[in-house]
Amino acid sequence: MLGSKLKKSKQRDAILEFLKSRKDHPTADTVYENVRKEFPNISLGTVYRNLTLLADIGKIQKLRMGAAGQDRFDYNTVLHYHFVCKKCGAVLDMEMDNLVNVDHFANKKFKGRIDGHVAFFYGLCEKCLAEEGKEL
Ligand SMILES: [Zn+2]
Ligand SMILES: [Zn+2]
Repeated sequence: MLGSKLKKSKQRDAILEFLKSRKDHPTADTVYENVRKEFPNISLGTVYRNLTLLADIGKIQKLRMGAAGQDRFDYNTVLHYHFVCKKCGAVLDMEMDNLVNVDHFANKKFKGRIDGHVAFFYGLCEKCLAEEGKEL
């Protein structure tokens, strides 16, 4: 069992609890700012290491944002899609069916093996879209 090899850590538990309470996919910085209230001596590096570890053992999901900014972390590890707002940078969960056919399409002319895919949708979130309407 993977979990049993892991030394218990109150800090790691606090990081996990914090993520569980959030639906907005916080960055390591945001997790740090909040966990620090309970553990004033914790460092950003420790927070980042624990987040990466939790992602490695599948407890959380790490969203690699690439050019869209810092990595985000998600308590929900079930396959789901994300939307990134180009204006405010919000990362939102999409309510939609999984694109099960995408892997099949991709495999058609690919000689290796496809195990999955990552997809981000982008545009303006509801809030930014409403603000844009007001500015015009
Ligand atoms: Zn927005
Ligand atoms: Zn999510």
